[in-house]
Amino acid sequence: MSVNCPVCQNELVPTLTGAYCEHCQQNFKLEAHCPDCHKQLQVLKACGAVDYFCQNGHGLISKKRVEFTPVTE
Ligand SMILES: [Zn+2]
Ligand SMILES: [Zn+2]
Repeated sequence: MSVNCPVCQNELVPTLTGAYCEHCQQNFKLEAHCPDCHKQLQVLKACGAVDYFCQNGHGLISKKRVEFTPVTE
């Protein structure tokens, strides 16, 4: 997965809590969005696994398909 900085379009470096832009020296939080309706997904955490659920009728979304959107903390 690669996510780009919303400010400078530089590729973000993944961190424990989200992502970091080396160019802007800014931390971002990653929000999970549905690839079909682009609404924010509900994050379900169970037994160390994370599932993403679309409340707009698209059900469980595989992590590979989730759109991660960087937002300023
Ligand atoms: Zn940046
Ligand atoms: Zn959806």
